Amino acid sequence: MPDHDAAQKFVYDFTEGNKDLKDLLGGKGANLAEMTNLGLPVPPGFTITTEACKVYLDSGEEPGALRDEVSAHLDALERKMGKKLGQADDPLLVSVRSGAKFSMPGMMDTVLNIGLSDDSVNGLAAQSGDERFAWDSYRRLIQMFGDTVLGMDGEVFSEAMEQAKSLKGVTSDVDLDTADMQMLAEKFKHLVLKETGRDFPQDPREQMDLAVKAVFDSWNGERAKLYRRQERIPQDLGTAVNVCSMVFGNLGPDSGTGVAFTRDPATGQQGVYGDYLQNAQGEDVVAGIRNTVQLAELERLDKASYDQLMQIMETLETHYRDLCDIEFTIESGKLWMLQTRVGKRTAAAAFRIATQLVDQGLIDEAEALQRVNGNQLAQLMFPRFDSNGGVRDADEIGWGIAASPGAAVGKAVFDSYTAIKWSRSGEKVILIRRETNPDDLDGMLAAEGILTSRGGKTSHAAVVARGMGKTCVCGAEELEVDTKRRCLKTPGGQVIEEGDVVSIDGSTGKVYAGEVPVVPSPVVEYFEGRMHAGADDADELVKAVHRIMAYADRVRRLRVRANADNAEDGARARRFGAQGIGLCRTEHMFLGERRSLVERLILAESEEERHEALEGLLPLQQGDFTELLESMDGLPVTVRLLDPPLHEFLPDITELSVRVALAESRRDANENDLRLLQAVHRLHEQNPMLGLRGVRLGLVVPGLFTMQVRAIAEAAAERKAGGGDPRAEIMIPLVGTVQELEIVREEAEAVIAEVEERHEVELNLTLGTMIELPRAALTAGQIAECADFFSFGTNDLTQTVWAFSRDDVEASFFTAYLEKGIFGVSPFETIDREGVGELVRLAVEKGRATRPDLKLGICGEHGGDPDSVHFFHEVGLDYVSCSPFRIPVARLEAGRAAAAD
Ligand code: ADP
Ligand code: MG
Ligand code: MG
Repeated sequence: MPDHDAAQKFVYDFTEGNKDLKDLLGGKGANLAEMTNLGLPVPPGFTITTEACKVYLDSGEEPGALRDEVSAHLDALERKMGKKLGQADDPLLVSVRSGAKFSMPGMMDTVLNIGLSDDSVNGLAAQSGDERFAWDSYRRLIQMFGDTVLGMDGEVFSEAMEQAKSLKGVTSDVDLDTADMQMLAEKFKHLVLKETGRDFPQDPREQMDLAVKAVFDSWNGERAKLYRRQERIPQDLGTAVNVCSMVFGNLGPDSGTGVAFTRDPATGQQGVYGDYLQNAQGEDVVAGIRNTVQLAELERLDKASYDQLMQIMETLETHYRDLCDIEFTIESGKLWMLQTRVGKRTAAAAFRIATQLVDQGLIDEAEALQRVNGNQLAQLMFPRFDSNGGVRDADEIGWGIAASPGAAVGKAVFDSYTAIKWSRSGEKVILIRRETNPDDLDGMLAAEGILTSRGGKTSHAAVVARGMGKTCVCGAEELEVDTKRRCLKTPGGQVIEEGDVVSIDGSTGKVYAGEVPVVPSPVVEYFEGRMHAGADDADELVKAVHRIMAYADRVRRLRVRANADNAEDGARARRFGAQGIGLCRTEHMFLGERRSLVERLILAESEEERHEALEGLLPLQQGDFTELLESMDGLPVTVRLLDPPLHEFLPDITELSVRVALAESRRDANENDLRLLQAVHRLHEQNPMLGLRGVRLGLVVPGLFTMQVRAIAEAAAERKAGGGDPRAEIMIPLVGTVQELEIVREEAEAVIAEVEERHEVELNLTLGTMIELPRAALTAGQIAECADFFSFGTNDLTQTVWAFSRDDVEASFFTAYLEKGIFGVSPFETIDREGVGELVRLAVEKGRATRPDLKLGICGEHGGDPDSVHFFHEVGLDYVSCSPFRIPVARLEAGRAAAAD
């Protein structure tokens, strides 16, 4: 080995690495090394580290020591293989394969067959006794090299291929013979010269070096950069490069190539899963040039290799203690392993595999929790198309990107207006657009689901549908949407007219003509208590979910509450495992017929009128609270006093103006309408989100908050008298300074004391506040002096920290922000740790410093978001509160967070 003074080592032989060196060797390289060390048959080779790549990217030059180090490793490889790279009479060929720490689509492809040249192609032909094979390999090299290393347009090569085939009157590559391949190789070389102004390099080492550099450069390709920004993969990791001696699956019928899984990635069932293609090179399997056979067939074709493969898969599973996927090649009856990694799997399989591995003694329960996640659980909770018959018989007409999960069925409509009109008359509709824009919002709301033919996971349709919780399939490119003629055309010529029923699957991206039967999720049936995990005939998936949830509940420190406004939601939340209510919004209690009482309250001109309106609302509120406390008996119930601006309870300003104007022109203006219109004008705000709402209302509308406090206290007293165990907590929204809270608290305490005295009962009501304004977070130390608890309102906190009005920004420019990679996920979906999260952390510290027993929770939608739950665990909250349906997700993630500590 040549001297190199730099202590750093840039090249690792496959025998030197291991699976834990992914940072340095990339995923592919680390696992190739791991398999090599396990004694599995891996074609020898070496890996150039991500460190070398980083030096190159930083300085524009490869590290000085790299060339010699590569030479040394290449020498060793050549000695091991008994031939030299590109040796004329018997060439050693290698593949140059990129491989970053995280698998990244959009990076450079692999270049196979490096080392072939005008000379060595003859050597390869002689050695293999197969001239066609040699020339086919050579033209493949020039093609891949031109495309990925020299940056040529790959089209020019495929066009030449097509030409050759049509000249010959054949359709498949395999029908081209040696002469054709020779001709193509010449043609390809010519194309290289024409397009790049230089000859295809004949020096094998130069081929290799150029390919390595191209892999380095591919790290900074536009698509790769964008992908990383969106996936929040750091931009400075760099990629490793694997140089791996070639093995050939295209040497005849006793050769071939395949992919396999150690168990079924769809169900987790152990067995033989994979595809095999006889007489083919690696990339043919993915390219779909010929039909593969099922892996089980290999047993018949080549029993010895098959048995060995089965043994290797078992070794890998036991070693990685997880499902693995692999790439392998058989060269003339000899099996070679080309790749392995812990494999992707469906949500259902993830749960089943985790419990299976526990039963096999390969992992413990804490580890099992790390093998699943809340997003997978959420996926399992959507209703889905009936896989027994329903989907199998359905007429699949296309597919797109699974953008927002769920199964939706409805009549096809092609514009928002029709969507709204039809849905008002009780029809279920699917809104089909080429792409959506902010004008489609109402139509999207009215639809069961949304289907678009353009755009990806961050398109307007996808982002907004996810925000709304609507099923969405986007970017179904082969479906042609004709909005003018109001129809959808399939590539096969089928036409879906407006009004025809379609079904879309937001979990798989599939689109069907006609109605596909929907079945409830068995996992929801289980959470609802309608299906028991203990039953003999219980679904395997339900059993697995039950066990994982039990582990999570056992270890988690965060408690989980529900955002629920009525007894029905409360009861469901309890079935789903809620340990109380973290947010009961009272505004919903002021709608319907009660709206008129609110109107009277707002229009009141005298103390007396106001008092009357409040007296009317009191018993109604009290009734609501009594029911809610009953549904949550023994558990805490946080009731938030009125939060939204009052004008939300009044008629729409335009509608009312028109009504009054019309009436005036008929000279029969109604006194009440006139007064209402005045009030509407008075309360109209430019930015209601920042206007008269929350605690501000309580301070300027006399009697409003005290009425609500009285209703809560009376309800609690009523429950106590009935032998119940009510645990109400009163929460004040939108507090910005402790003075606001002091005033409200004083008034509330007086009311509570009065109720307690009258009923001769102790109610133990606590009074706390939401922390949802930056100022509240910054002054949390003072606010805590006056609050028994904090509940972080992370929706409003996100709005106020970013100056984002959610309703406006999501629809208008979030798509652009996501596309530009400004954030990988909306801060309304996952808490923005660095910004909003820092304020939460600060408020927790300050609050607890003032009052160590301060109870801390969060009631924004982030309470049901997996990533955010981990954050709330980290900062030490006592509970998260989320919508009833997300409770299992929060329980699971709270358990995962605790188990990972
Ligand atoms: P990707 O990351 O896209 O899977 P790979 O580096 O795994 O790229 O290579 C692409 C294809 O080429 C795979 O099918 C792989 O098995 C095959 N391949 C890579 N290196 C070799 C080799 N040395 N010999 C034979 N086939 C190879
Ligand atoms: Mg691969
Ligand atoms: Mg709020």
